[in-house]
Amino acid sequence: MESPQEIPADSLEAFSTRIDRPEYTENPALIPGAWLDEYEALWAGRAVLRLPDGSRWLSSMGLPAEGNDDRAIARYIKEHRVLRPHAAWSHPPEMFLNADTLDVRRVYCTECRQFFDLEAEWREAEATLGPRGDALDAQDGETETDDEA
Ligand SMILES: [Zn+2]
Repeated sequence: MESPQEIPADSLEAFSTRIDRPEYTENPALIPGAWLDEYEALWAGRAVLRLPDGSRWLSSMGLPAEGNDDRAIARYIKEHRVLRPHAAWSHPPEMFLNADTLDVRRVYCTECRQFFDLEAEWREAEATLGPRGDALDAQDGETETDDEA
């Protein structure tokens, strides 16, 4: 497997908020082209962020669709979105995982701007929202009207 490109970043927060500036919202054409290349590489899973401490972080948007672990992470992230307030457009929110450990107990949500233990949230969801399926179905916004007898 090819080793991913490493994008230097001061911190996960600094990287994920660098684009939150009024001038970029008003005129996206002002966003540096090099940044767009970095997002594209991250979201394609071809690049990781490298922090000053040497840790490497991959975007949840770049996770491959295949593989049991990755599917579990995708479910965890979906559950996280149900548990915490998130913008309607972020489905799911972009999260950063340690590229070397894929540790779901310390995952950075770019929207909440903090780390979460997704495994603990999963257990919390089970305790407060009932069976997992309920929360995930409700999220899709579709009303189940067909009562098949
Ligand atoms: Zn979040």
